[in-house]
Amino acid sequence: MSLKFKEPAPITDHLNPLESMMQRFDEAANILGLDESTYNALKSPEKAVIVSLPVTMDDGKIKVFQGYRVVHSSKLGPSKGGIRYSMGVNLDEVKALAAWMTWKCAVVGIPYGGGKGGIQCDPRTMSDGELERLTRAFTGAMRDVFGPEKDIPAPDMGTNPQTMAWIMDEYSKLVGQASPAVVTGKPLVLGGSLGRVEATGRGVMVSTRSAMAKLKMTPTQCTCAVQGFGNVGSISAKLIEQQGVTIVAISDVSGAYYNPDGLNVEEAIEYVTKHKSLDGYKGGNMITNEELLELDVDILVPAALEDQITEENAGRIKAKLIVEGANGPTASTADKILDEKGILVVPDILANAGGVSVSYFEWVQNRLGYFWTEERVNRRADRIMKLAFDNVYKTSKKHKCSMRTAAYVVAIEKVADTLKLRGIF
Ligand code: NAD
Repeated sequence: MSLKFKEPAPITDHLNPLESMMQRFDEAANILGLDESTYNALKSPEKAVIVSLPVTMDDGKIKVFQGYRVVHSSKLGPSKGGIRYSMGVNLDEVKALAAWMTWKCAVVGIPYGGGKGGIQCDPRTMSDGELERLTRAFTGAMRDVFGPEKDIPAPDMGTNPQTMAWIMDEYSKLVGQASPAVVTGKPLVLGGSLGRVEATGRGVMVSTRSAMAKLKMTPTQCTCAVQGFGNVGSISAKLIEQQGVTIVAISDVSGAYYNPDGLNVEEAIEYVTKHKSLDGYKGGNMITNEELLELDVDILVPAALEDQITEENAGRIKAKLIVEGANGPTASTADKILDEKGILVVPDILANAGGVSVSYFEWVQNRLGYFWTEERVNRRADRIMKLAFDNVYKTSKKHKCSMRTAAYVVAIEKVADTLKLRGIF
C-alpha cells in the first residue's frame, strides 16, 4: 500500500527552533552562572504527550492524526501556549515553542508557565466538520492535560477563535461544568476579552515607543518598515504610525510596497480587508521582501515569519532599531552581527508578549465572571509591557549584553528562583 500522506517537512540545522532557543538559553545561563541541576531542570520539558486521533472524514473514511502537547514548565503557574495545526508540526518544534512560552510569560511577569501543542494536519484542505471532529478528539485525548488551573491553550498557526470555542465546549462537557477559562482567544460572546485582537500589535508599539525613548529617537523624524501585514504587522504599523512615525514600507505574501514619503496604513488595512491581501495595492512601489528588510529606515518590524534576518543579510540591515513582532524572525546566527552593528533588537519574547498578557486578562476575567472595558485592558497591558521593557533594558545594561540575552536572563532567573523556593530538588 502506498503512503498517501506527506511526510512532515524536515527541519534543517539552520532553522531548528530548539537549537536556536538553546543557544540563547545557554548564553543567559552562563551570565547567571546557573548550576548544572537547575540548568538541566529548566532545559527539559516537564511533560510531552503524543496522541493518535482517529477522525471520521467527510467521505466516511477514518484518518488518524498525530497530536502533541508539551508542558515545558508549570513552575510559575498553569502552562500557557497555543495550538498549531500544520503539516510541519513535530515534537522538537513543539518542545521549543513550549519553552519559548515559559520565557515569554516570565519576562512580562504573568503567573504562567509555558506549553504548546499541535496537530499534524493541513487545515486548509479540511472541512469545518472535519476540523471540529479533530479538535474535539484532541480535547478528549488531552482531558487530563488541559485545565484552567493546569494548562491553558490558545490559538496559533492554523487555529482560530472557533477552534477555541470547540475546545471550551468539549472540555466543559467532559468535566460537567462551564469552563471558559480552559482556553483563551475565544470569541467575545463566549468570554473572550476586549482588546485581544489588537494586543500583540499594541505591545509591539509600546516596545517601539520605549526603545525610541532610550535611543533618543524623535518619532516624527523616524521612518519604519513592517514585514508582514496580518494581525501583528498591520496593527503594529497602525499604532506606530499613530505615534508620529512615518511607515514607508509594508509587505505580505504578495510582495513589499515602498513609498519614501509614507504610506497610509489605515487605507492599506481597508485594502486588505476588501481584497484579502496587499496584491494590487497602489500606495507604494513594489520591492521584494528581501529589499524591505534592508531599507534605509530607522525602525524595522519583522512581523511575518521565522528566520528572516540571517547571517547572510544581517550585515546589510540599516535600521537602528528592530522590534520583533513575529516569533523567531532573527536566526540565532545573526544575533552577533546585529549586536556588532550596534542595532538595538527588542526580542520576540518581550516585544510580542502583549498577546499573551491580554490572554492572561481573558483568563482572569473568566475566573472573575466580570468583564473589563477595552480601555482598562489596554491600560493594564501597556503597563505590563512598559515595565517589562524597562526591566530587560536595565538588565542589558547591568550585564552589558543584548536585550535578547537580557530577556532570557530575566526569564530564566525568575523560573530558577521559583524552582529553588518550591524546593523541587
Ligand atoms: P497572520 O497570519 O495574521 O499574518 C502573517 C502575515 O505575514 C500575512 O500578512 C502574510 O501575508 C505575511 N507573510 C507570509 N509570508 C510572508 C513572506 N514570505 N514575506 C512577507 N510577508 C509574509 O499572522 P500573525 O498573527 O500576524 O502572526 C505573525 C507572527 O507573529 C508569527 O510569527 C506569530 O507567531 C507571531 N505572533 C503572533 C501573535 C498574535 O497574537 N497573533 C502573538 C505573538 C506572536
